[in-house]
Amino acid sequence: MKENKIPVGVLGATGSVGQKFIQLLESHPYFEVKEVIASERSAGKIYAQAVNWFLPGKLPSGVSNLTVKSTETEINCPLLFSGLDASVAGEVEEKYARAGHIVVSNSKNHRFDPDVPLLIPEVNADHLTLLDQQKFGKGKIVTNPNCSTIGLVIALKPLLDVFGLEQVNVVTLQAISGAGYPGLSGVTIMENAIPFIGGEEQKIESEPLKLFGKVGSEGVTLLDLPISAQCNRVAVIDGHLLSVQVKLKRRGKREELIKAWQNFSAAPQELDLPSAPKQPVHYFEEDDYPQPRLHRNLENGMAVSVGRLRECPIFDYKFSVLSHNTVRGAAGGAILCAELMKAKGFIE
Ligand code: NAP
Repeated sequence: MKENKIPVGVLGATGSVGQKFIQLLESHPYFEVKEVIASERSAGKIYAQAVNWFLPGKLPSGVSNLTVKSTETEINCPLLFSGLDASVAGEVEEKYARAGHIVVSNSKNHRFDPDVPLLIPEVNADHLTLLDQQKFGKGKIVTNPNCSTIGLVIALKPLLDVFGLEQVNVVTLQAISGAGYPGLSGVTIMENAIPFIGGEEQKIESEPLKLFGKVGSEGVTLLDLPISAQCNRVAVIDGHLLSVQVKLKRRGKREELIKAWQNFSAAPQELDLPSAPKQPVHYFEEDDYPQPRLHRNLENGMAVSVGRLRECPIFDYKFSVLSHNTVRGAAGGAILCAELMKAKGFIE
């Protein structure tokens, strides 16, 4: 029932990720957006006037008339989803956690804090125990990984579990929406590809090590796994496509790898969380799949698509991975984290 929903605030509500939060939370069974927060440029305006709504479909009516608050304002909602620009996210998110709010963040700032879970619910739900080590009292911070890391790690997890991983090489073709709103100018990206995304390669090479790490009383022990990443921005609106090469600890047959992906299921599926894909990884046999336009919205944008598995003359295997960067890779992934936290009793 509507009255029982948990009131939530969206930090950075006017941005690329913020708008996706507003859209995905429109008729969420647990959460209802009651506060929207952005910069001083937007504060004081009605949300409908402050935002340049660029998502398909109408701006949800329950949010359009909310007055945008600044990050200097007191906020009432116990749960905050953050799509804040990284230049301010670190300080602002910590301030709200200290004030007793639970913050689920998409920004890079707290991802490597020793007591902050870097979470993909299908991969490391057990890392939520780190919350007992946090020193914010009632408040908490949980972080969502980088948008390319999420697709990569969900595709690697079944291989790690069944075969073990020795080395990973990944080349990304990343969508424009990953650069925020308004992002890159048309002149920069039309008919073009840019072989540089600031800070991205370092995130993809480091974040999986924490996600696959072992959690204990001393925090997370990182997995020892060499990963090499090269990142490119391409003229696609949504959906990051990755070309991945892996060296396995135990070399399996092609069919075994596909079976590992198809059989992969974890806590969100067992708990039947509202945003969980029924099948986290879909394998396609078609020669030219997966593609951003065709597969990014699979299972409401929460599933990861894999295809083109073949032997690699340098590593053991190579394949392609596709995931929706603002859904699975940002707002949808963060909402799934909060659903898991609620199911595990971290959100009342
Ligand atoms: P964006 O479109 O540029 O949006 C940034 C948001 O932060 C806007 O709401 C903006 O408000 C607000 N903001 C900027 N400066 C502020 C300040 N000084 N005080 C308060 N609010 C401020 O960026 P985005 O792409 O949504 O990304 C948001 C975060 O998520 C970033 O840390 C990004 O790295 C991460 N992320 C993005 C994606 C993606 O695919 N886009 C995926 C995963 C993670 P105004 O509109 O008022 O300026």
